[in-house]
Amino acid sequence: MLPTIALVGRPNVGKSTLFNRLLRKKRALTHDMPGITRDRIYAEGHFEGVQYALIDTGGLVMESDNDSEEFQGDIFEQAREAIEEAHALILVVDGRAGLTPLDEQVAAYIRQSNKPILVLVNKVDGSELEAPALSEFHCLGFEVMPVSAEHGYNLMALREKVAQMA
Ligand code: GDP
Ligand code: MG
Repeated sequence: MLPTIALVGRPNVGKSTLFNRLLRKKRALTHDMPGITRDRIYAEGHFEGVQYALIDTGGLVMESDNDSEEFQGDIFEQAREAIEEAHALILVVDGRAGLTPLDEQVAAYIRQSNKPILVLVNKVDGSELEAPALSEFHCLGFEVMPVSAEHGYNLMALREKVAQMA
């Protein structure tokens, strides 16, 4: 089995956007994984020869002709499954919204796993936003990295980091 990394975090921080950018795919693949109760969004990626599997959490994908609809799942149930399935976790947060109580709760929950954790501060849509966006997330006690899934900021560094975590 490939080293597996899961994207976790509260809704709307950009997990699915990041997933699709990292995998360079237009839409998430669905894949039945053994031992879990529902389809997870799962795909394989690589960076400089390192192969890994990436799991997106937080939504069921309903297949239809040309669109998919996401439904909000239970965030902690998703995090529990991610801890079970993944070797390393990426906690995605929203650098524009700042640190929220739910971010802190999810961070506390996944910290118990003792797995490698990266805090990925998304929606940092330019380098000038980096310092103010990052400052408050350091208190979570994990490595933090800024990125913009939508504008592409720092995505190359993220690819390298994900390969290192794998
Ligand atoms: P998820 O619920 O965590 O999977 O979040 P989504 O990937 O569905 O994204 C939620 C919203 O945030 C969407 O409207 C995205 O277009 C937007 N979004 C995602 N990444 C970025 C980003 O880097 N910058 C900005 N400004 N918006 C983003
Ligand atoms: Mg999503």
